[in-house]
Amino acid sequence: MPDRFADWRPARLTKNFGDDSDLFQMDHEPLYLRRFPASFRAFERNERHHHDLAAKKSGCRTRHFHLVRAPHEAEIWLMTDGVAADFLPILAAAESPIGSLVVSIHDVTPITQPTIEKILADLRTAGVRVTSLLVVPDYHHRGKSVDDANFASWLRELEADGHEIVIHGYFHDRPRRESEGMREKFLTRVYTQDEAEFFDLKYDEVFARITRARDEFREARLSPIGFIAPAWLLSSEGERAARDADMQYTTRIATVIDLLTGERERSRALVYSTRSAWRRAASLGWNAALARRVAIGQLIRLCIHPSDIASRNVWKQIIRLTRRFSRTRNPTTYRDWISEERVTRKLL
Ligand SMILES: [Zn+2]
Repeated sequence: MPDRFADWRPARLTKNFGDDSDLFQMDHEPLYLRRFPASFRAFERNERHHHDLAAKKSGCRTRHFHLVRAPHEAEIWLMTDGVAADFLPILAAAESPIGSLVVSIHDVTPITQPTIEKILADLRTAGVRVTSLLVVPDYHHRGKSVDDANFASWLRELEADGHEIVIHGYFHDRPRRESEGMREKFLTRVYTQDEAEFFDLKYDEVFARITRARDEFREARLSPIGFIAPAWLLSSEGERAARDADMQYTTRIATVIDLLTGERERSRALVYSTRSAWRRAASLGWNAALARRVAIGQLIRLCIHPSDIASRNVWKQIIRLTRRFSRTRNPTTYRDWISEERVTRKLL
């Protein structure tokens, strides 16, 4: 096989590849092969839709696969069964060093649902079809999110499609306290606009809020296994409480923590602040630089808030980064990433 398979970019097969058949070129278009996760999960066989399309294009009735989720209809990559089978072992081997991309969407609530739907549609066109959805159980005491039947069934559908439902705080707010020092004031008022709900909650209260959320979600036939505190602010006793409340992982701004194994993966989250013009400008520069730095890591975390889509430049950059990362990485969720990590670590 050409060495191209060993490098980090998606392999590109053109007419020059040395294969005289038309298998690699539909209408003499170059065919792009992208790497597989070791589990072959991205190897999608979608006969209903793609077979028809392939048959129309090529005039043949052979069953076709497309190898990866294509960002655009124009970029659907097709292969026949036989050729795909030939490439499977090579692609699997080439895949092992490649990284993952987790796109998480924060502050999913019945109020933000229409915005999140738009966000998910844009992400799909940029090559990301699964995300970790951070759902707030009772946003600012406005009522239980899953009591909204339409919202709950939308979440169930998303979960069935491979998205992940994550518990994100409980109320997502924090009443101000009388005697707060500078650090508390900065973190809870300036940095998070009074939303650092779990910043200084004691063990019992963290345990109570997470188990309540967990039970409500389970009753709504959702299966969360992760807890992420608003603005990632969670004390270490809070972390213990999350584990005792059956949560398998949590994340901080710079780490993903497997609460079952105690493993901590360092990975700085890309996240934007859109509350004011200077914050937006600073975010763009910071994230452009950070994107280059995290690109060498095993796991890239891209965190999206509902307000990001309203800021044109921020959204443009998010979609550009999503498209770039999803070309060379496996888009996944925290849930699936953690379970693959456990398998990989056992194998090593
Ligand atoms: Zn949040």
